[in-house]
Amino acid sequence: MTRRSALLILEAVELLTSNRDLDRFRASSGDVVLIPTMGALHAGHESLVRKGVELARGRGICMVWVFVNPTQFNDPADYARYPKTLQADVDLCTRAGAAAVFAPSAPDIYPPNQQIPVPSLPEQATRPGLEDAHRPGHFAGVCQVVLRFFDLIRPRCAVFGEKDWQQLQVVRAMTKRDRPEIEIVGMPTVREPDGLAMSSRNRFLAPGDRQKALAISRALVGAGRVKTPAEAEAAMRSTLRDAGVETEYAVVRDAATLLAPATGALRALIAARLGAVRLIDNVLWPSI
Ligand code: AMP
Repeated sequence: MTRRSALLILEAVELLTSNRDLDRFRASSGDVVLIPTMGALHAGHESLVRKGVELARGRGICMVWVFVNPTQFNDPADYARYPKTLQADVDLCTRAGAAAVFAPSAPDIYPPNQQIPVPSLPEQATRPGLEDAHRPGHFAGVCQVVLRFFDLIRPRCAVFGEKDWQQLQVVRAMTKRDRPEIEIVGMPTVREPDGLAMSSRNRFLAPGDRQKALAISRALVGAGRVKTPAEAEAAMRSTLRDAGVETEYAVVRDAATLLAPATGALRALIAARLGAVRLIDNVLWPSI
């Protein structure tokens, strides 16, 4: 008896590495659902790509952008060592069913003779005690590159992860104000089986720090069970301190405005450092 092996035929994604490639591809691609990333893709990114493929079905294509944006890094060492894994990224995008990967060079996005505007920052970007306090200038770079890619690609919709909660609120507010025709879709955080939020930076954790990093998701889950935001903040700080994790912030904020809690949906957010690695995570608060 002969057995025919199942043949899985995957249509390779188009790899576009310049604005010229993009223009040629865009001429016939129809509606685009865009997945912005800095590459080094993992299962968290893959969930965004699969959502993009679903949203594009029957009315266009899903395109993944892979670009390590220099203007959003305030630490040159962090930028220099950001992982680059383009071939593996292209393979993941093929498996997930994307039609194209746009991976331009920095001079394509920031030509030396052209000033790329930095949009004014939505107020969510500069809330005290959050990202701006620890990564000044970061959201200016994020807003700049997002608007630049939106104008190059002109997507119908773009998918972002809730893992970067503040970024999602900033991009939502800027897009609503500056490019209201583009829909922003948020996707839940994908975690490792032990709870650690997936991140391209996890690969840099020393073995002992990988274990310590679990205190971040543990602190968020524990904080979801206490009664007031102030108690939740104290509980998160103490869980992180006990684990020997350096806390940048551990706070409960309004989920949309990122102000100190009033009424409505709230979010617990943590940024922490393990050696040279900075990790962020967040959950809905309270969780029960
Ligand atoms: P990055 O490449 O890390 O800049 O992330 C690109 C996009 O993927 C952003 O919208 C992130 O919020 C999202 N993302 C990163 N990690 C995860 C994760 N673990 N789960 C879901 N989305 C993620």
